[in-house]
Amino acid sequence: MAMMNAAVWHGAGRENFRLESIERPEPSAHELLIKVHKCFFAAMHVRAVLVGHAKHQPPEIFGRMFSGEIVAVGSAVDQWQPGMRVTLNPERPCGICFYCQRDQIAHCLQPTKLQTGGMAEFVLVPAPLVDGLFEIPPAVSMEAAAYTETLACILHGLELAQINVADTVVIMGSGGVGLSFVQLARLRGASKIIVSGRNQSLETAVALGATRVVHVNEESLEAVVSQETLGHGADVVIEAVGSAETYAQSLRLLRCGGTMVGFGGTPPGTLFDGDPNIIHYRSLKIYGSYRYTPDHFRRAFNLICTGQIDFRPIITHSVPFSDLTTAAVDLYRQADCRALVIDMIPQ
Ligand SMILES: [Zn+2]
Repeated sequence: MAMMNAAVWHGAGRENFRLESIERPEPSAHELLIKVHKCFFAAMHVRAVLVGHAKHQPPEIFGRMFSGEIVAVGSAVDQWQPGMRVTLNPERPCGICFYCQRDQIAHCLQPTKLQTGGMAEFVLVPAPLVDGLFEIPPAVSMEAAAYTETLACILHGLELAQINVADTVVIMGSGGVGLSFVQLARLRGASKIIVSGRNQSLETAVALGATRVVHVNEESLEAVVSQETLGHGADVVIEAVGSAETYAQSLRLLRCGGTMVGFGGTPPGTLFDGDPNIIHYRSLKIYGSYRYTPDHFRRAFNLICTGQIDFRPIITHSVPFSDLTTAAVDLYRQADCRALVIDMIPQ
């Protein structure tokens, strides 16, 4: 039996995230096998390792954001060949469940998913997901292509934000997600893009299109937003931090009729204090952004392939697969880490 190494999450606690040798899958007629080259370690993985995750049950091999090379194809697969560089939409909605019928396909109750994610040497692509493969053009790096799934989530949030030309947009958070939102808000034509954060990423936000940055330990974000909007408040606030404080504050930053998008996830059990009258009297529109649709994924891949998103300031850190379970959480939590990519192929 062929074996492969995989990072297996057995629940909350660093000691429960371990490299293990497991059976290497073999593709059947309508399936194919990818050798993973790059895979992202994200905020949700940090939460899962340290405190558990509300949407995941152990054991699980994480990794929805990955790219690699096809190494084996089933006999009935004719569109794909070994050697092709690909990334994959790792989930396919069923199209018929309660939520799919209501056009909420990001909440599909019975999607086809990967059995094991990209934090393993190989990923088996089941037949229903083969149509979700995208061939990576030679000029596009494996790293950038692996970011497609994250960018698809961000595009979903952008769509909910309904940014109009000349809007004032506040982006709370200057990590990889916040910096991606900055670039997309600029593409959408926002005239003022105010970014809040805590570290030197704020300088990068300016380079990518932010018109004003606020170091939250040094300045009042509410005061700055009020000043920049003649006291009215922002048209759009995107929460990309994932804390009770920023969720509560986001509501206070909006003008009447403004739109808030909750993008950041928080640790299980988090509660926040908010004044219901702000929502009521200001007629706020509040959207939770979770996951994406196949169309978001397709458009995200197109954005990456056409070079419209600059990843150089976003993908700041990497970790070899052999050190993933011991080093990734601490690397991700470094102040200057915006996105952490796992090198799955030993150099
Ligand atoms: Zn469904």
